[in-house]
Amino acid sequence: MARKFFVGGNWKCNGTAEEVKKIVTTLNEAEVPSEDVVEVVVSPPFVFLTLVKSLLRSDFHVAAQNCWVRKGGAFTGEISAEMLVNLGIPWVIIGHSERRALLNESNEFVGDKVAYAVSQGVKVIACIGETLEQREPGSTPIAEKVTNWENVVLAYEPVWAIGTGKVATPAQAQEVHCELRKWLNDNVNSEVAASTRIIYGGSVNGANCNELAAQPDVDGFLVGGASLKISDVLSFIVPL
Ligand code: PEP
Repeated sequence: MARKFFVGGNWKCNGTAEEVKKIVTTLNEAEVPSEDVVEVVVSPPFVFLTLVKSLLRSDFHVAAQNCWVRKGGAFTGEISAEMLVNLGIPWVIIGHSERRALLNESNEFVGDKVAYAVSQGVKVIACIGETLEQREPGSTPIAEKVTNWENVVLAYEPVWAIGTGKVATPAQAQEVHCELRKWLNDNVNSEVAASTRIIYGGSVNGANCNELAAQPDVDGFLVGGASLKISDVLSFIVPL
């Protein structure tokens, strides 16, 4: 089954309105393959979501970087999936390793968040990935709680590769992605295994993205640091 290449840019907690506008201008002026071939999603900090959505070309989409685990209410500082729907924000990143490590988000909590966001109609980039000490990448609680996989992209992000400049080799990435697909086959079903996009994240840049993209089970990228660089931002939007 053909899986549409997916490129996500995670801008994390960076940027001013002016800087964000510059990146959007670069993206808007780019000649890229059509939306039928490559899906492009950028994820600015919450405060810039509406600005980016209003300026960004219509074939590119916007993702929040997190949302609350259930319906909104007395949860100061949080943003609910319902609010994202209300603002027309179609995607959310959930379970990024920085939130797992710095804010103690557990695999179970992440699994609940993914399931709730999907239930509200928000598409999810669900991050999984092991530290050097762990082998279990954290996909089990997600698989236990998600019943509709159509709107989930799995981002495999080995923690040792995020923001470190140490990118997984194409063979390492392919090995894990292939294992994850097998895991989906054995623990969910063969259809989900064949259709779910598994994207790689961890020090992807303009110089290493083509080789990674050539791997049969690498269906795209989640790019952090390099997605903020005007010089690199277009290089990930590669055709298969
Ligand atoms: C990320 O934050 O998801 C990420 C992969 O970061 P970087 O590309 O900077 O390693």
